Amino acid sequence: MTETTFVKPLSLAESKKKNYINIVKTHFNKKFGSDPSFYVRAPGRVNLIGEHIDYCGYAVFPMAIEQDILVAISLNGSNKINLTNVKESLYPDFTTSLDVLKIDSLNPKWYHYYLCGFLGMVEHASYDYLSSSSGLDIAVLGTVPPSAGLSSSSALVCAAALATMHAYSLSVSKLELASLSSKCERYIGTEGGGMDHAISVLAEPGSAKLIEFNPLQTTNVLLPEGAIFVIANSCVEINKAATSHYNIRVVECRLATQILAKACGLNVTEVSKLKDVQEFANIPVDQMEKKVKEVLHENPYSRTEVCQILELSDSEFETTLLSANTKFLQEFKLYQRALHVYQEASRVWRFKEICEKKSETSLLMLGQLMTESHASCRDLYECSHPDLDELVQLCLKAGALGSRLTGAGWGGCTVSLVPFEKVDNFLVDLKKNYYSKHFRLQELLDTAIFPTKPGGGAVIYED
Ligand code: ADP
Ligand code: MG
Repeated sequence: MTETTFVKPLSLAESKKKNYINIVKTHFNKKFGSDPSFYVRAPGRVNLIGEHIDYCGYAVFPMAIEQDILVAISLNGSNKINLTNVKESLYPDFTTSLDVLKIDSLNPKWYHYYLCGFLGMVEHASYDYLSSSSGLDIAVLGTVPPSAGLSSSSALVCAAALATMHAYSLSVSKLELASLSSKCERYIGTEGGGMDHAISVLAEPGSAKLIEFNPLQTTNVLLPEGAIFVIANSCVEINKAATSHYNIRVVECRLATQILAKACGLNVTEVSKLKDVQEFANIPVDQMEKKVKEVLHENPYSRTEVCQILELSDSEFETTLLSANTKFLQEFKLYQRALHVYQEASRVWRFKEICEKKSETSLLMLGQLMTESHASCRDLYECSHPDLDELVQLCLKAGALGSRLTGAGWGGCTVSLVPFEKVDNFLVDLKKNYYSKHFRLQELLDTAIFPTKPGGGAVIYED
């Protein structure tokens, strides 16, 4: 049965977690001269299939990983928020007054992600309980590799939102927190979907989850036996908020939605996502490919052409359809992006069915879907990177049944489905063929490649 409370006694934390809790406690103590009142953990995630489709309304298939963001926190009786990080050299201390909180989306720093979670919760509760003594002392320790597609940013936002909720005794359900924290992260400027927060908050140990949106609902899915998912980091870092790659794809999907909706005779003001077009036009998702090919052309659309089709002036176009960091865009690949989204959405449902039916060929079929997903990310969605493509090929050569980039892409990690009996050789091969060739990566080896199994979601630990 799904647990409804976040709170667990600290004594029940597993021993590895207790070690990390002690590290963050010691740091808190050193910085603030007292013990924290409680701790929060929120995990990162690996998306097994369904890339770049949550913000188009489609279901995705992630699982939580063991690596997480850990927060130690106490009310401090002042009007200041004091943030410190165990990895001080990477993430320097930050202090702000409660009355001048600001998130700089054009120059995002680590503490802005924390403030996203904090502000989202405060706004949700209409600031009613904030006083000049509602300040907080906060120490953070993260083990999710940053900017690697395992959603360190969302783990940090979820941990901050949950810590704020508990510090101010707000009552928010797990489902509400999942939805709220996905809205929180948009303060940083990325127009993300809801997958990362939903899995970080709602994950249950032992199963991956099919996550559907509008309304948010999750279904536990047991993964077939005989193989394990192995994550390998290409070690190409990509910060989604500091670059416009991510939002450009969101915009391209938005424009494809509008043009397809118009061609289908739908009311474009009621349609905001590619899934809306499919649903309102009453077309099965696996037949949307035909519609895309009928309506959209393969050549990139110019800004002028999009404005003409949608009957908008350039300034209307800019204010209604572009975001702060995509205003400069002049060309849009709509055919390729829409095709990826509809095909990837179908792959997610096939993946779930294969997990549930379980046959002798399940593992092979799952692997094939993953590799097809990568090809689509590389060729249609153009969100891969040459190092990621190389890593996927090496993973397949080293014995994986399927391999793909995971998370937004343009760098970060691959996830591969590897039969149990091949895991040891797989790790040796990859270390030899990828990591030893990239000399600068030697020191990262211990954390760059690891088998993973479905972990649990966000927790509050209290004495
Ligand atoms: P990801 O794929 O990991 O979510 P993003 O580019 O979305 O990548 O977010 C990465 C950013 O999250 C980092 O640049 C940093 O600001 C923040 N972050 C990640 N891990 C930590 C951490 N342990 N401590 C502080 N900030 C972190
Ligand atoms: Mg992120």
